[in-house]
Amino acid sequence: MKISRFVPPARVLLGPGPSDVPARVLLAMAQPTIGHLDPAFINMMEEIKALLQYAFRTDNSLTLPISAPGSAGMEASLANLVEPGDKVIVCRNGVFGARMADIVGRIGGTPVLVDNAFGEAVDPDKLADALKRHPDTKVVAFVHAETSTGVLSDAKTLAEVAHRAGALVLTDTVTAVGGVPVETDAWGLDAVYAGTQKCLSCPPGLSPMTLNERAMDKVKGRREKPRTWFLDFNLLMGYWGTGKRVYHHTAPINLLYALHEALVMLQEEGLEASFARHRQNHERLVKGLEGLGLEMAVPAAIRLPQLNSVLVPAGVDEARVRADLLAWFGIEIGAGLGELAGKVWRIGLMGQGSNRRNVALCIDGLRAALAAQGYHP
Ligand SMILES: *Cc1c(COP(=O)(O)O)cnc(C)c1O
Repeated sequence: MKISRFVPPARVLLGPGPSDVPARVLLAMAQPTIGHLDPAFINMMEEIKALLQYAFRTDNSLTLPISAPGSAGMEASLANLVEPGDKVIVCRNGVFGARMADIVGRIGGTPVLVDNAFGEAVDPDKLADALKRHPDTKVVAFVHAETSTGVLSDAKTLAEVAHRAGALVLTDTVTAVGGVPVETDAWGLDAVYAGTQKCLSCPPGLSPMTLNERAMDKVKGRREKPRTWFLDFNLLMGYWGTGKRVYHHTAPINLLYALHEALVMLQEEGLEASFARHRQNHERLVKGLEGLGLEMAVPAAIRLPQLNSVLVPAGVDEARVRADLLAWFGIEIGAGLGELAGKVWRIGLMGQGSNRRNVALCIDGLRAALAAQGYHP
């Protein structure tokens, strides 16, 4: 078999991520690769840190992108903050909370689950109850924007409840950052990680994260090293810190060019304007979906504007709708995950992909794909 150049098909990415990457960001990646210790590159790294501080709304000096996707940020923050034997409350209201609990067990921590149904927000009262039953809890972990269901939890209140019990707060903002407010400092979130391929409109492969002093004290005071070499913050800071840079691993240079450009675009627009745009296009989408007779799976008060879960109407083959959207229009939307598999579609309007054109395209495409199955509003 002769294998030649791979040319990806034209797509409109309206699923749970990756989202479409703007030409500006793709072009930034196509610039020449330079050394990971080149002074010009180090200068750009400092700019990325400052831009990430803006995106996370924090002054934390430990703010950097991990050289691997969002799941690595999850694993890194847990592996560094949790010591063997530590009790960790994991709030689970979807697939990603479950993943956190799995990691806690693997690194020798003791996970305590606070369960909310798929499609519900994390209940702060349930967390408070669990903390009463487990006063020796060291860390409380939760997902701010649950991409598997399209639900936003109240990170500010959850952090307050956790701090009252003396626990550190670890927050997954992979889908949140850039799309809805994430107030790392104002809410006192101790460790926060994100991803690049959702509302930051950058290709996947990096996990921005930030730790405050409280979290850093815990990391520095560990009785034993984290059981990971690649994701050990103390070693990573040798490369990303402010002192003399030492080689740890070769940074994904060109991907970092992309993140820099994506964050410059976010700063140009402004966080508030980006949140407002996500909200506005979400409202347009909901109106369009309701015009098709479709129902949202999540109550309005806790809906994510960037990830819309829509109930599949009775008698409609949900996989065929997705296949037709892809074949006819190049539109990718997401299937349900976990308990919601087969029951919902997940429509992402993330980052630069949150725009009027995509809303119109999606509604029109869905109308055609549903009509092909005899479904009419
Ligand atoms: C996408 C996502 C992740 C995982 O990120 P990857 O880049 O796929 O590893 C983690 N948490 C949430 C909430 C996500 O949406």
